[in-house]
Amino acid sequence: MTCLLLVSSRLVRGAPVDLAQAVGLAHRRGIPVVIDGAAQDMRLDALLATGADLVLASAHKYLAAPTAGLVLGRRALVSAVRAQEKGVGRAMKATKEAIVGVLKALEERAAADPVAWQRQQDDKVTAFARQAGELPGVRLRPVPDPAGMPFSRVALDVDAAAAGIEAVELVQRLKSGTPSIRVMEHEVRAGRLLLELVPLEAAEIALIAERLRTVLSGAG
Ligand SMILES: *Cc1c(COP(=O)(O)O)cnc(C)c1O
Repeated sequence: MTCLLLVSSRLVRGAPVDLAQAVGLAHRRGIPVVIDGAAQDMRLDALLATGADLVLASAHKYLAAPTAGLVLGRRALVSAVRAQEKGVGRAMKATKEAIVGVLKALEERAAADPVAWQRQQDDKVTAFARQAGELPGVRLRPVPDPAGMPFSRVALDVDAAAAGIEAVELVQRLKSGTPSIRVMEHEVRAGRLLLELVPLEAAEIALIAERLRTVLSGAG
């Protein structure tokens, strides 16, 4: 038996789960714990500190490396995962190119200044809010990542009556334009769009703010 704990900003509902406590409960019953922290690559120390036996992270999310994964934790269990290198399926193995890319990304991460990185992300959110300005029927605010990654997203709460457009329709309009703009839409039923600006350049952020203004001014 294994206890799998998923950590994702999209799975946070209500009071947060205390991961260290969850790991402790499983261990008391002799059950090893794997934490799937695919998008938590800036919190690996914190996830390992919960006492989890294995922590998994994606190399191709915020680490921005080629498609691969990181497996951290107890030596015997990591070795068990490595056995797959002698196992079946080319498609189930990380390529040499991916491995070198991940190592390079880890070097760059180690050399980066986390405080400066976080300030850059905050500046993007501020710039977006300034450029979007007052949007009719839309309340715009920064929301910290609910899983604890060190950045905020922009939440757009759409009041359909005042905006003249439903949140679902706004998502569609953004998607169908050129270039296509994809937002996080897992809270769209509650009238909320979430924008993640982490990988974006200033010009891209300006373009999204401008498009929102255009769509909303045409909708009223
Ligand atoms: C993104 C994500 C995955 C998928 O990760 P891949 O490395 O792309 O396979 C799995 N679990 C969680 C919690 C994720 O956020």
